[in-house]
Amino acid sequence: MVRTRFAPSPTGYLHIGGLRTALYAYLFAKKHGGKFILRIEDTDQNREVAGAVDVIIQALDKAGLHYDEGPGVGGDCGPYIQSQRKDIYLKYARQLLESGDAYCCFCTKERLEDMHKSGATKYDKRCLALSAQEVQDRIARGEPYVIRQNIPSVGSSTYHDEVFGDITVDYKDLEDNILIKSDGMPTYNFANVIDDHLMGITHCIRGVEYLMSTPKYNLLYDALGWERPVYVHLQPIMRDATHKLSKRDGDAGFEDFLNKGFLPHAIVNYIALLGWNPKDNREKLSMSELTELFSIDGLQKSSSIFDETKMRWLNSLYIKEIAAAEFHSAAMPFYEKYCADANVDLEYLSELLQPRVEILSDIKDKTEFLRAFDDGAQTPFDFSLFENKKWKTDAALAKSIIDECIEITENAEVDDLESVNAALNALAEKKSLKKGQVLWVYRIALTGAAATPGGGAEMVKLFGKEKAVARLRKVKTILDS
Ligand code: GLU
Repeated sequence: MVRTRFAPSPTGYLHIGGLRTALYAYLFAKKHGGKFILRIEDTDQNREVAGAVDVIIQALDKAGLHYDEGPGVGGDCGPYIQSQRKDIYLKYARQLLESGDAYCCFCTKERLEDMHKSGATKYDKRCLALSAQEVQDRIARGEPYVIRQNIPSVGSSTYHDEVFGDITVDYKDLEDNILIKSDGMPTYNFANVIDDHLMGITHCIRGVEYLMSTPKYNLLYDALGWERPVYVHLQPIMRDATHKLSKRDGDAGFEDFLNKGFLPHAIVNYIALLGWNPKDNREKLSMSELTELFSIDGLQKSSSIFDETKMRWLNSLYIKEIAAAEFHSAAMPFYEKYCADANVDLEYLSELLQPRVEILSDIKDKTEFLRAFDDGAQTPFDFSLFENKKWKTDAALAKSIIDECIEITENAEVDDLESVNAALNALAEKKSLKKGQVLWVYRIALTGAAATPGGGAEMVKLFGKEKAVARLRKVKTILDS
């Protein structure tokens, strides 16, 4: 049975590149009726961030990547948090010490620094020469030590990667990596092998940064008599031709994009296409379509550049098709942020906005009219807005019909858009004006904004009669003064 895993280090956020790795591992497992596992790689305790595991778990949940085994879910191969597996690694490290595939190293930081200063590019295997007795004595004396992998000095190793083909590395280019640190914790270089084997991982899908060190891991698999997994290394997502997308440059975290108002699945859909090609021109794909279409031979050898404009476009397609209630609840945090004092029918606001926003944070600009001119107005009413070149309107025209506008609003069935529009048409006829002239003046008088998500009738429905009339009266006072 296919078993894949996502093995993030808990850094406090889920990088969009990490999410894509998780997605491919998930899709591959699901496509083959297999299992997708979450493993937390937290053996570098210096990098530990409080709450970081929950961040990952919640992000995967929002993205719809539900894991079959892992923290909080359990499974037969737990614990799934590496810091809770210390004894397991030590057991195998001892086995490697006995077989000579690993050795204890007592070299101090100072000695290693001197070695590097004098030009060494890798550890010189000095402690490999220590006798078993000496090692025992020094451990008994309480000297700190690490356990290093004993990599052959000559020869080379070739393995097959599903994306990059055959990879050959000379052993002389590999360092005797530390497997177990002096605090007893394993390094990634050791733990990934032990865990991938014990967790039955069949396909190891991870970042390309591990491509050239994989021969070291293969030596460990061989030394322990274990079968190697199939390797699938992925190119990074790039910001531009030469830079990786990175958290340091701003918004590379999944949460950052959610906060900007991208829908989780739009992000997932977009990043699925960054590095994988479904071999037809389809771009909008549901999770079940992605699962059905995903295959390793569609993975690209070249890296892809992240294009937020494209993701925005994809997001706008999803925004338009989600149910009204779903849009409304997704919009709510943005209303709380930008329309807290608006006192309007928010459900109706959602109805007006859903066809008009591409990402939810567009709500800020699209609701500017609610802040531009209101009880707690932040900016004074801008009378130049009455001037419209196309309709040849101005404040004087507004002044000449403001009383009728107020009357129409007072008598309006506010939920009946057509009756309000009919009344405005009748006003145009009565005053020998064009319909557009009246509609323009009416909408500006109501909102004090050039752009609104709907016409005057919609704005009256949104505000409700009382508020609409109050707004118009306020404009009349200013026009008359
Ligand atoms: N913990 C590693 C990382 O976050 C995962 C590498 C892997 O998938 O094996 O880079």
